[in-house]
Amino acid sequence: MRHLLLAATAFFALSPAAAQDRGPVNRIIDEGMNHSQVMVTAEHLSDVIGPRLTNSPAMRTAEGWTQDKYREWGLKNVHKEAYPFGRGWWIEKSSVRMVTPRPIQLTAIPIAWTPATNGVLTAPVIVAPIAKESDFAKWRGKLAGKIVMTSFPEPARDLTKAPFNRYTGEELGKLDEYQQPTYDPQAADKRLKRLDFTQKLDAFLKAEGAVAMATMAYRDGKLVSGEGYLFGTGETPALPAVQIAAEDYRRLARLAKIGPAPTLEIESVVRFDDSDPNAYNIFADIPGTDPKAGYVMAGAHLDSWVAGDGATDNGAGSAMIMEAARILAATGIRPKRTIRFALWSGEEQGLLGSMAFVQEHLATRGNATSGTGQGMQRYYGFTNRWPVTPRPGFNDLAAYFNIDNGSGKLRGIYTEGNPAVVPIFQEWMAPFRAMGMTQIANRPTGGTDHVFMQSVGVPGFQFIQDPLDYGSVTHHSNADTFDHLRGDDMRQGATVLAAFLLNAANADKALPRPPVPTQPAVTDPFAYSKDDDD
Ligand SMILES: [Zn+2]
Repeated sequence: MRHLLLAATAFFALSPAAAQDRGPVNRIIDEGMNHSQVMVTAEHLSDVIGPRLTNSPAMRTAEGWTQDKYREWGLKNVHKEAYPFGRGWWIEKSSVRMVTPRPIQLTAIPIAWTPATNGVLTAPVIVAPIAKESDFAKWRGKLAGKIVMTSFPEPARDLTKAPFNRYTGEELGKLDEYQQPTYDPQAADKRLKRLDFTQKLDAFLKAEGAVAMATMAYRDGKLVSGEGYLFGTGETPALPAVQIAAEDYRRLARLAKIGPAPTLEIESVVRFDDSDPNAYNIFADIPGTDPKAGYVMAGAHLDSWVAGDGATDNGAGSAMIMEAARILAATGIRPKRTIRFALWSGEEQGLLGSMAFVQEHLATRGNATSGTGQGMQRYYGFTNRWPVTPRPGFNDLAAYFNIDNGSGKLRGIYTEGNPAVVPIFQEWMAPFRAMGMTQIANRPTGGTDHVFMQSVGVPGFQFIQDPLDYGSVTHHSNADTFDHLRGDDMRQGATVLAAFLLNAANADKALPRPPVPTQPAVTDPFAYSKDDDD
């Protein structure tokens, strides 16, 4: 009995939100559900502004428009912060046609940051799968005057999974499984080598007199995405290049196999914009009442690839971040800590916007052995630079919440290597259980803007979202359009996010922090490395 009493007392004493006023949650739900603007915001970003490649004219428009909206909604300290990025690039128009043995319009897209064709380029194709430097010898002297199809024409796969999904309770439960961290200091160097290979391939094809490169899209269903990663000033490719839909690529490969090789017409009218090599992150605040209490932050990347309209990746997340800001501003609530809203750029090129923020405001990472160059090289080296040295503002950021998993509703949250937050998040989720927000998953997730926060020891979190057709169809693709957004999901997401932010901002004690990371021990000190990608 005494034990039970003690336990109960301890629970109330430790529960930071127990004494908090719950009224604001109801006001947030009312504003988010009955007065939502989230789809109006998402429509403008995706239909009116369109795809927002970092440093492109459309991204510049988005940088201005989002700040205007924040000011209109009464947010404070609305501003942008610059970091060095590289070249702007956009597609004015493009066309890839097969002209022999029969005319047919192909589904294809210029690869980002490749040069224009300067008119219509007509040439036969050659299928020359080149995956590593040692493949160059095989094709030397055979590529002059050709459009070189460098991808291996992988066969079509069975579609075994439904393309549109929501998590079942059982699937959600399975996400809560601890994953042991691993440390392989050579992994980043291997990825850097692959980046080097892209540059070497471009130089090889150019030197051989090839007229263009064509790669195969990695999903079936006429989806193209056109990612390219050579965007630094002075490092963009020399050769025009297009990514061709898998079905079209395979047809070309079959025709080339039996011969004669088909002829293509490629017209790629693309433009570079070098007027400002800086990229910009956008910020807006709801100021806290206690200037010494620091801030909590939510963010999403505003930039996108260019094949579609950047609707689900990540107009959806951007619109939910902005809507949470609007909801909280509309309720007039004054939090204890400042609530900051971030819209990142350069995410698609290696989380470069949030990385710049980390370096500027949170922590530096020293002793670079790799990855200090420009372009995407900065990204690969970052998490393997030691030691992590916190900056003076390090402890001011009490929590960071990221949204970048499409437009699906929030079903829970990943603790991202910070399991001490579990009982706190349980309490914050309680009012939203009936809206589907139920699961805490004790595991890390990668690939988006909380990663570098989390990697220096800031409590950074990513939400669990219903997958919908994000991974199967829309992610980076030409189908990433407004129709794939789900309004009910995004209303829920913005509302839950607003409540989480307010809870984090008003908590008596800031969320528990992980320790500042130090260089880990190598997970498998006995492993030999396979040097297969020379
Ligand atoms: Zn994204």
